[in-house]
Amino acid sequence: MWPGKCPWGAPSTTSISCSLADVMSEQLAKELQLEEERTAFPEVVAAAEGPFITGENIDTSSDLMLAQMLQMEFDREYDAQLRREEKKINGDSKVSISFENYRKVHPYDSDSSEDEVDWQDTRHDPYRADKPTTTPRRGFIGKGKDITTKHDEVVCGRKNTARMENFAPEFQVGDGIGMDLKLSNQVFNALKQHAYSEERRSARLHEKKEHSTAEKAVDPKTRLLLYKMVNSGMLETITGCISTGKESVVFHAYGGNATEDKVIPPECAIKVFKTTLNEFKNRDKYIKDDYRFKDRFSKLNPRKIIRMWAEKEMHNLTRMQNAGIPCPQVVILKKHVLVMSFIGQDQVPAPKLKDVTLSNEDMKKAYYQILNMMQQLYRECNLVHADLSEYNMLWHDGKVWLIDVSQSVEPTHPHGLEFLFRDCRNVSQFFQKGGVAEALNERELFNAVSGLNITADNEVDFQAEIEALEKMNEDHVQNHGKKLSMFPSDGDPPIYDE
Ligand code: ADP
Ligand code: MN
Repeated sequence: MWPGKCPWGAPSTTSISCSLADVMSEQLAKELQLEEERTAFPEVVAAAEGPFITGENIDTSSDLMLAQMLQMEFDREYDAQLRREEKKINGDSKVSISFENYRKVHPYDSDSSEDEVDWQDTRHDPYRADKPTTTPRRGFIGKGKDITTKHDEVVCGRKNTARMENFAPEFQVGDGIGMDLKLSNQVFNALKQHAYSEERRSARLHEKKEHSTAEKAVDPKTRLLLYKMVNSGMLETITGCISTGKESVVFHAYGGNATEDKVIPPECAIKVFKTTLNEFKNRDKYIKDDYRFKDRFSKLNPRKIIRMWAEKEMHNLTRMQNAGIPCPQVVILKKHVLVMSFIGQDQVPAPKLKDVTLSNEDMKKAYYQILNMMQQLYRECNLVHADLSEYNMLWHDGKVWLIDVSQSVEPTHPHGLEFLFRDCRNVSQFFQKGGVAEALNERELFNAVSGLNITADNEVDFQAEIEALEKMNEDHVQNHGKKLSMFPSDGDPPIYDE
């Protein structure tokens, strides 16, 4: 096809548009497209004025927007030229050749759902670490007085401009080369990412126009949030995706510069809570009944509720941190994006307990550590993990680290004790299967963690007693407007243990 193949050997993918209606509708689509872009841009610029803009990066942020707008303009000119070529070749022939696939701005490509498509599933992941790096990680080249750091603006700016040409073979960068153009690192990086995602987007479209939008975690607004974290210098680079789950996507990043009030860990994990709403429906029960969020729940739209998950994870991690439980340390929360310290090293996340083979000795050690952590979590943090299992415990530095606490609740949550019992069941089964003879069974573990003394000797009765306790507590709330304490303080019997 164009420009390589000869026009009369038209492949089957070529669309034949010969009716006036088709032409008209295509034009209409284009007009709508332009309209959308005009309205979309002010919004993006406004969003850029977020909390990350500081004195240093205000220029680069607008540079980025400017560059993106110029790119769009360039693409539009490119497409216009393409249309002229198309017209010239087709003339008034009955069979026409479409250059659709060569266009930069695709009419069907302009809706936001397209932009929300995940970008981990294709070859050129913009967030994958670049190999080889041009500047060593220590960030400078040379010795003594002649040290050139990666931050030497002029040298670096020119270098960036030259490198920009090599983003991707198909990526049109215009002809700024003769102008001694100097791109800042931030703009360079952002443009590079843009180039990669454009290339991928293009490849995807050429492969398959109809595709599912299964992954919607990283929509344009999220991407902008992540850009800003890099632009502000808080993060150095986002290297890649560690995990894609139903409810979140987790990225690895190298930490950037410390601010006055914050030291950024050398490696960070970025948990992006998915903005697709469906998955969260079945989690309603965790947050809806959590009195800490109760007042706010009813008034919120779904997008805000998702932010609340992130907020909840942050608060819970902070409580755990304060109690000295090994867990990620919170760096920052921005909307539905939570940045925390990375558990692992050199981009390799610590293995989950389910994936690691421990010696008998370590297994036993891990068990007692978890027993301890569950008690601390309950008594000192006033929390029940509520999704505790070998999937949410990492083995790092010879100990167990707890993660994934967005769904954790206080023990007085209407289902708090049921969640605790489930946690206990997971832990007991894992360690009993793992050959730890000392491991308590789930009922013993439940009592050991909660300090309650439920005596039922079978699972069904035990569960029934738990539910009865929960109900009693709820009734008490109804009558007195206040929760009972579900955990004994220093050996006192539980309040409701009559
Ligand atoms: P999900 O709700 O998707 O299970 P998690 O918080 O469990 O979310 O994160 C998913 C995966 O990402 C984890 O199983 C773990 O492998 C990885 N992960 C999450 N947070 C961190 C972290 N702070 N450090 C290292 N790896 C992490
Ligand atoms: Mn998890």
